[in-house]
Amino acid sequence: MGFSEEHKQILQDHYRNPRNKAPLTPGEENAVLDNPSCGDRVALRLGWDEEDRLSELLFDGEGCSVSMASASILTELVKGLSRREICETTAKVQSIFKGEEAPEGLEPLGDIAALRELLAFPVRLKCAALAWDTLEAVLKKEKP
Ligand code: ZN
Repeated sequence: MGFSEEHKQILQDHYRNPRNKAPLTPGEENAVLDNPSCGDRVALRLGWDEEDRLSELLFDGEGCSVSMASASILTELVKGLSRREICETTAKVQSIFKGEEAPEGLEPLGDIAALRELLAFPVRLKCAALAWDTLEAVLKKEKP
């Protein structure tokens, strides 16, 4: 797929050693979405502290390496951020995934830059976007 060696290693590492992954039962999930075209499923559980920072973030699910690596990367990227920062980060990532913003915008965001090569593959991009779609679904649901 034309991934650089460095990006390949980052994705494999997240796939093999997912961060913040734990089994979630239906009552514990804040949102769960799936990507039927690939068979991916991502569930998220969010917990906020008194200052409205994301103090708890767990994901569960199954699917291809891209969807699982992307979910793991997401948790590392947004955990500890404020709700406003998370909304901004999510909007930025989604607009890059949709091709509305230049892919260079992923570079300062850490490991998620490893998904850059996927931007040329719309079908696989759905796998990468799934965790972010799930996070958006939670944020929309929780909107005060
Ligand atoms: Zn997939």
